[in-house]
Amino acid sequence: MTGRLIVLTGPSGVGKGTLLAALLARHPELYLSVSATTRYPREGEVEGVHYYFYTRDRFEQAIATGALIEWAEFAGNYYGTPTAPVREQLDRGKSIILEIELAGARQVAKIFPDALRIFILPPDLTTLEARIRDRGTDSAEAIFRRLEQATVEIAAQHEFDRRIVNDDFETALDELDRLVISI
Ligand code: 5GP
Repeated sequence: MTGRLIVLTGPSGVGKGTLLAALLARHPELYLSVSATTRYPREGEVEGVHYYFYTRDRFEQAIATGALIEWAEFAGNYYGTPTAPVREQLDRGKSIILEIELAGARQVAKIFPDALRIFILPPDLTTLEARIRDRGTDSAEAIFRRLEQATVEIAAQHEFDRRIVNDDFETALDELDRLVISI
């Protein structure tokens, strides 16, 4: 496998994180980029594993010094991809996966036109809303913002190279596996 940038996007609550965790368990050779964010850690999230948790000041400094390959504001918080690990992996001929929202995916497409961009879809919006609510980690306002953003993201699904519907988890995982490993 030659080094390629893989971008995984899809609305909040669609199950991108769970799919990726399962994919990485199958393929330990794959590398997942760890993003920086200003949102508070959810229970069980570990600094440097799930995210780098930054203050707004620190994040704005990272933007100013060009330390992020892309960044976006999502549901009231900043999220961004540190540049150095991405460059390092690609320079070593290794693939790297970014799990990012739409605005970031669009920025990456400009910088890396050869990136493989995959969009994960929910079976329908009602299922998505139930998944976000059941997670129980977001305030009513955050849920509203995430659902609003979900509609915007789903409308952009055709900008992506491939789309996968996460209805049956194992089927979606197999599809993702085939796509990522076939490149
Ligand atoms: P969550 O708060 O649920 O972990 O993430 C919210 C959204 O931010 C998700 O759609 C996730 O894909 C996106 N996201 C996570 N990291 C990054 C990043 O580094 N850049 C961008 N643009 N989006 C990110």
